[in-house]
Amino acid sequence: MVFKKIYKQIKKYDTIIITRHIGADPDALGSSIGLKELILNTFPDKKVYAIGAPAARFRYLGLVDKIPDTDLKKALLIVTDTPDIKRIDGANPNDFGYVIKIDHHPFIEKFADIELVDDKASSASQLIIELAKNTKLKLNKECASKLYLGLVSDTNRFLYDYTTTKTFDLVSWLIKQTNLNFTTLYSNLYVRPLKEIIFSGYISLNMKITNNGLAYIKITDEILKEYDVDSSTAGNLIENFNNIDKIKVVAFCSEDKGNGYIKCSIRSRGPIINDIASHFNGGGHIYASGARPSNFEQVDKMLQELDEICANFEIN
Ligand code: AMP
Repeated sequence: MVFKKIYKQIKKYDTIIITRHIGADPDALGSSIGLKELILNTFPDKKVYAIGAPAARFRYLGLVDKIPDTDLKKALLIVTDTPDIKRIDGANPNDFGYVIKIDHHPFIEKFADIELVDDKASSASQLIIELAKNTKLKLNKECASKLYLGLVSDTNRFLYDYTTTKTFDLVSWLIKQTNLNFTTLYSNLYVRPLKEIIFSGYISLNMKITNNGLAYIKITDEILKEYDVDSSTAGNLIENFNNIDKIKVVAFCSEDKGNGYIKCSIRSRGPIINDIASHFNGGGHIYASGARPSNFEQVDKMLQELDEICANFEIN
């Protein structure tokens, strides 16, 4: 069984480096930092590092480590929440002695010796909970809180249809095992700065809705400055706009001057969007994707493709 195989490799290696996808979100951080704590709680003498660029907004999920100065060929790399090499943050699988992937995105490419890919799992954090349940890895409260937040964030509070009885079974097990006081954790995820709510008002008033049911907004750097927010803010708000009557797909596209691209978050209530996102330097899940078109002309092309799939989709 794959969980036992993963456990065997974790037991075998003294140095373990864990990473996740670039542009970390709570599931990427929760699964990687939660796994680090799970391993250290079980094997306190191992050297375990959770690496990747830090995300100030999600500091409550734990700090990240620097990649250690060590012989990587003697180390194990575990990559969570990442389907392909180009999205891995801060590590090259080819440098390592052994590689394990634990992911819930649709499969893109093989890069690991063991690939645990379950695109029916609600989150990478769910897969780590399942790993803990099926092996001798020992949970504690700290690690459980990170895995819980990762899962709750990726399911949008158990809203998405990747939330299954298995999700509830595993979460219930996690809470019982650790006596986790989960309601106290929510403020980390859901308390927002007032300026985000004000910006959310700007989006509500200015987004366009096509006859086919595509809602979109193109946000320039000027507007971001005016509202004192950044190119990630609209994406952080998009879940609030994903359940509006007659709207099938939502796309928020914010200029990211520093990186020289337009940062887009896309959500769908039916049409499959990750194929289109992948044409514009992006990808993701079938109903939750991101893209990075290089300019607003490319954004218009992407919006046109999204509008076409909306036209061909009937919402129940
Ligand atoms: P976001 O809108 O940034 O929350 O992203 C939604 C989903 O799309 C997540 O699973 C991301 O990992 C994925 N995603 C976001 N941006 C990209 C990208 N540029 N390339 C591939 N996948 C992405």
